[in-house]
Amino acid sequence: MPNEHRRTWAIATIALCLCACAVRTTRRPPLPGGSAPAELPPDLAIDNSCGVQSAEALSRCVDPMRIRADVNRIARPRSPGSEHHAAVRELCRSRLRELGFQVHLHSYASGENVIGTKLGFSKPTERVVLSAHYDNVGRCPGADDNASGVAAILEGARVLTSARFDRTLVVACWDEGENGQLGSTAYARAANRLEGKLRLVVALESVGYANAQPDTQQIPEGFEQLFPDQALAMLDHDYRADFLTVVADRRTMDFARSVVEHGGRFDLGVHILRLTDRIKFKQQDLHRSDHVSFWNEGLPAILLTDTGPFRNPRIGCKRGTDGPDSLDYEFASRVTRAGIGAVADALEVR
Ligand SMILES: [Zn+2]
Repeated sequence: MPNEHRRTWAIATIALCLCACAVRTTRRPPLPGGSAPAELPPDLAIDNSCGVQSAEALSRCVDPMRIRADVNRIARPRSPGSEHHAAVRELCRSRLRELGFQVHLHSYASGENVIGTKLGFSKPTERVVLSAHYDNVGRCPGADDNASGVAAILEGARVLTSARFDRTLVVACWDEGENGQLGSTAYARAANRLEGKLRLVVALESVGYANAQPDTQQIPEGFEQLFPDQALAMLDHDYRADFLTVVADRRTMDFARSVVEHGGRFDLGVHILRLTDRIKFKQQDLHRSDHVSFWNEGLPAILLTDTGPFRNPRIGCKRGTDGPDSLDYEFASRVTRAGIGAVADALEVR
């Protein structure tokens, strides 16, 4: 596809969020006949005996089959208020509890986040949050957006809980990510009132889609001017949609570099997009996920994403179904390995 066509397509998608969010403030009723049963298939046996105490070894413990199994459980329509939305919230709650986390439901005006906490040993008031939004909208299964992110953080929770850390690990399933990020915003606003320090928030948004064919990665209009090195790298790679994008700011660049380092061990290309106030003004597409809820409160956060609609035409089921069979679970596991390795470093594994 010629570059001009690619960019035209990108402009057409520019109105989309990384997730197809639309701001609403009230809970919607269940979709008539569109909700899946609340009962989910049984888990793979919980096994958190990775038994290793280094970030690299922990990241190697990530299991693509577990990510796939959870995407299969989660990827059905799950608008807030629907039975399956409640079932996925319960999956987060019960899984984290089985893994030994202290779990509570963080209720706010229109929804509920699931918050799992595992206390650190020497710096328990310093928290590192690994997170993804669990809702979706309409009748789309939302496998990439964002069953993949939830499956990745649940696998991360399984792997990480086998280790000891200095800092406290928080694993969060956000509600209403597709509704103006209301869930993560409510938590971020409360976070400054909690005792201790929120050291880092890692948000995963659509992390399961890849395509190694040339000309499958789109870029937003003006991207080349703002990120010339990354644009050149994508051109040199024939616009293959097989890399991870990390959206960071000044405070989270060290973590972004750690993701690159861990990703390199698994042959995962990682592009860092560092935002500034100037780029924020021009590139609103990079500001539409849960990381921004924390930036808005002056807290350090970072986004890991496959770039959503800039590579996956099925996001929002706009061109094809965003179902489990469309994802690449080896790619999703490499993204999870890179993210988990970096989170383990941030937690200071002992
Ligand atoms: Zn989303």
